[in-house]
Amino acid sequence: MHDDARFDTRAIHAGQAFDPTTGAVIPPIYQTSTYVQDGIGGLRGGYEYSRGGNPTRTALETQLAALEGGAHGLSFASGLAAEDALLRTVVKPGDHVLIGNDVYGGTHRLIRRIFGDWGVRHSTVDTSDVDAMRAAIEPGATKVLWIETPSNPLMKVSDVTALAELGHEAGLLVVVDNTFASPALQQPLALGADVVVHSTTKYLGGHSDVVGGALVFGAGERLDEVHERVRFTQFAAGAVSGPFDAFLTSRGIKTLGVRMQRHSQNALAIARRLDEHAGVERVYYPGLESHPGHELAGRQMSGFGGMLSISLADGGAAARRFAESTELFQLAESLGGVESLVNYPSEMTHASVKGTEAEVPESVVRLSVGIEDVDDLLADIDQTLARL
Ligand SMILES: *Cc1c(COP(=O)(O)O)cnc(C)c1O
Repeated sequence: MHDDARFDTRAIHAGQAFDPTTGAVIPPIYQTSTYVQDGIGGLRGGYEYSRGGNPTRTALETQLAALEGGAHGLSFASGLAAEDALLRTVVKPGDHVLIGNDVYGGTHRLIRRIFGDWGVRHSTVDTSDVDAMRAAIEPGATKVLWIETPSNPLMKVSDVTALAELGHEAGLLVVVDNTFASPALQQPLALGADVVVHSTTKYLGGHSDVVGGALVFGAGERLDEVHERVRFTQFAAGAVSGPFDAFLTSRGIKTLGVRMQRHSQNALAIARRLDEHAGVERVYYPGLESHPGHELAGRQMSGFGGMLSISLADGGAAARRFAESTELFQLAESLGGVESLVNYPSEMTHASVKGTEAEVPESVVRLSVGIEDVDDLLADIDQTLARL
């Protein structure tokens, strides 16, 4: 593969060279915990024990770095394990973290309940408001600026370039959770971010058959050093992905580009259909011209993705009815798979933020639009709306 290979080529080939022993086109799954040494300390390829490194995980980490245009990738047991390892490495008691006011519920819970108990403070701010973010920085104490765009579940779009500039002026580590857009549609490191976080459980894996997480670090000495320290945390604390999970994630990534195109097409068609219905008060999808972040998303993303939310005019009862009436859209947590899912955030994915400033209104339903035939998806939306 050439160094200047384009996205879809990198997704298929980075880290995925054929097996030199047999010629197998797909690199084997190294389902092993340990490695024979040629004499004490004589490691083959640097592998000693699979918590420290495993060739299947290395292949995925190379692929992840290539996808995000980063210098280093790390693969974890879950998205939250990745977030935990990163935060544990870069903050200490007394430090302060800035997060979005509609950040992923699990991220909020991790920072509030786990890091909070260790004396790490946080503020939740509307990350789409750069001035509000500037005002929330506590000089000397704030260490991390955490951006999720588009956000979950209200699909707010934040300006990564402007926030990265702001963060760097203040000496912060600028982190982007790129789970919703995926690197096929948005490249945060190229926009100035330092570290990208993924729940690879979602679009990267893409088939709802594996839980995993990733970190990708930008280039340069400062981030090389952060990467080394996080890698040590991962090695010492142990939240690695297993070989079979790494293999499934690598396999999913190869079709990411084409999947994201279809996810985006289907979601736009569904957003438009929902937008026409009187029972739907509001559609949150950055691909609609009416979305406040539409223009910005058009600039920093190359497609609008497969996630959208709606709020129902008749409130919580209507939202519950909607979520329980779809047939093809299955009622389940998670997102980003080839199959369409519907979720009721306030009782499901975001139940953990009820009563906090990150609470999701009861009228909101979130859709993860899959890559089924769009006419079948639209028919399901129509029969659901007819039951409202
Ligand atoms: C799911 C998700 C996470 C957490 O990832 P897990 O793999 O479930 O641990 C983090 N951020 C976002 C945006 C997510 O959707």
